[in-house]
Amino acid sequence: MAETPEKVLSFSNELLQKAKPAAQKEFEELESYAKKLDRIDQLQKWDGAYYAEKLKKERFNLDQEILKPYFKLENVIDGVFTVASKLYDLQFKEVFDIDTYHPDVKTYSVSDIDNNFIAVFYADFHPRKGKRNGAWMTSYKPQQIKNRINERPHVSIVCNFTKPTNTKPSLLTFNEVTTLFHEFGHALHGMLANTTYNSLSGTSVSWDFVELPSQVLENWCYEKEALELFAKHYETGETIPMEYVTKIKESASFHEGMQTLRQLSFGLLDMSWHSQDPSKISSVKEFENNAFSETKLYPDVKENCMSTAFSHIFQGGYSAGYYSYKWAEVLDADAFEYFLEKGIFNKEVATKFKENILSKGGTEKPMDLYKRFRGKEPKPDALLRRAGLL
Ligand SMILES: [Zn+2]
Repeated sequence: MAETPEKVLSFSNELLQKAKPAAQKEFEELESYAKKLDRIDQLQKWDGAYYAEKLKKERFNLDQEILKPYFKLENVIDGVFTVASKLYDLQFKEVFDIDTYHPDVKTYSVSDIDNNFIAVFYADFHPRKGKRNGAWMTSYKPQQIKNRINERPHVSIVCNFTKPTNTKPSLLTFNEVTTLFHEFGHALHGMLANTTYNSLSGTSVSWDFVELPSQVLENWCYEKEALELFAKHYETGETIPMEYVTKIKESASFHEGMQTLRQLSFGLLDMSWHSQDPSKISSVKEFENNAFSETKLYPDVKENCMSTAFSHIFQGGYSAGYYSYKWAEVLDADAFEYFLEKGIFNKEVATKFKENILSKGGTEKPMDLYKRFRGKEPKPDALLRRAGLL
């Protein structure tokens, strides 16, 4: 979607200029906090996570354990289905007559408001022996139009949430809630696909465009209007207190300056490796330090070498594509701001998103699709606003 290295670099540098002052301020704050607490004179890379976590706890007093009772898995699933139904008129019905590869796998028949069949949706939520870690969306049968028949897709999300016991349901951390929304966003991209060729259907889009439908859906997890629909205490039925919602939102942008700088540093290192004549590079470490010069906060560790350990750069498939994480964040923040302007359940905006993005797959240039949805090109301002950097 970005099309040229120049565009990636100017995009990265623009964000860098905006995030750097905030990152430096956050870093100084963290340094003095560590000094006050444990008389740490020079904060090192290996200290960062520890003190940041302590400081975050002190500032927001937001314990994951307090939130979990409001996120019973079944309630969160209902929540994400309700969001999809309010936005895209989809209906989900659990069905029991579809074969699965494991008894844990749930199956749903998805239809539109007129009861037309849209997709089969599979959900495999819990860990078990031999199952891979993490969370992802996948598809068993792609959507395509063949012999004038619109063959609807079979789409699945796979997660690893704690299994319920006889006495306790599966309760999700807030992070797991956003993970579920994220993967479900990919699933919507698959389920609402409406193209002729399966090679261009659903999530078969440019690498730096594929995270838009997933990341944008995460935004609903932070909105009172959406949380009220499903974040209810599993024992008392009480809706999540407003105070927690505010804290979730505020703590989400904690150290966002430093986080942004970190992501940009990886992206810029990746771009450096892939945009220069390698025969001119004699020292990997020196080359790397050079690439990090604008984004570095912590003192360098002599023995440390990111380039040789960072699989994304060469063999992870991201080569010259790591920037797409931030790129997609710009898109999702900009897209969600449109929803915020008109209302997070506004049908007109949702329909534009469905018709121009979710259903189109890779049949057109992503920038053209995006502009048709949004009415203009995406700008980083919304992301900077959300991150508290403007
Ligand atoms: Zn994703």
